[in-house]
Amino acid sequence: MKQSPAAGAASRSPNAEPVVARTVAELRALVAGWRRDALSVGLVPTMGALHAGHLSLVETARSACDRTIVSIFVNPKQFAPGEDLDTYPRTWDSDLAALRTAGVHAVFAPLPTEMYPTEHATTVSVSGLTDCLDGIARPGFFDGVATVVSKLFLQAGADRAFFGEKDFQQFLVVRRMAADLDIPIRVIGCPTVREADGLALSSRNTYLSAAERALAPHLHEELQKAAARIAAGVAASADTCADAVAALESIGFGPVDYIEMRDAETLAPVTGSGPLTRPARLFAAAHLGTTRLIDNIAV
Ligand code: AMP
Repeated sequence: MKQSPAAGAASRSPNAEPVVARTVAELRALVAGWRRDALSVGLVPTMGALHAGHLSLVETARSACDRTIVSIFVNPKQFAPGEDLDTYPRTWDSDLAALRTAGVHAVFAPLPTEMYPTEHATTVSVSGLTDCLDGIARPGFFDGVATVVSKLFLQAGADRAFFGEKDFQQFLVVRRMAADLDIPIRVIGCPTVREADGLALSSRNTYLSAAERALAPHLHEELQKAAARIAAGVAASADTCADAVAALESIGFGPVDYIEMRDAETLAPVTGSGPLTRPARLFAAAHLGTTRLIDNIAV
């Protein structure tokens, strides 16, 4: 695949209009044309309501690939009954403006009926990596993610896909799915983008009241404190995590779904106090009012 400067990011000036594909057939025709020109293709799957975290993935994709596609699809299959499918922010006009400025080549924005016609009957389910953390806290969530992302991978036929480490478990699950299904795509993890006070950017942060927004950075702060204590060998990681849960609940978070240290590749629990022999991460999920926040950091 070609990576010449002429064909790469520089070939498309920011503010040119991205092609908007609404159907799989349109997307495939577009990518087929790029393939004929031997151009490499990057995919950034999103649910829209774009922020600087999404745009950092776009920037990485643009620097690595000749052509960049951003998909915008609020995937009903990853929302449980009672979750925020109906109220999830939908900001098409500002999303498109941001993607135009970012120099994206195409936006894939299918209707739910295009992705899931009535007769659709297949679920992609990844075991192992989904047996903990959000796999427990949000039953069915990763089946919904793996199903939609496997479809997007097969529809776009991209060389590389870019995912945020903000959703680290999702990144691992998607990478496993692509490898297991022999989908020829490289799944690349990109660092979490944060507000100045440490809060990880999220489309759902708009749900927070002013008081909740003021409390929200404590989630990242407690993770950092816990990581420092664990690295210094102050206490067993399980005790440190329990202390962090208690600290958050005492200032108004609640309930905290989990704060746990896990292996950064396998997600096996890391609970002891000895020196770490493999990369580990601290994972957290906590409710603040009606909003559920997640975060994770390397230890
Ligand atoms: P979403 O629209 O929430 O489904 O997210 C789409 C992609 O953006 C996923 O790969 C997320 O992990 C990624 N993402 C969301 N928030 C951030 C962030 N703060 N920093 C980096 N990537 C993010």
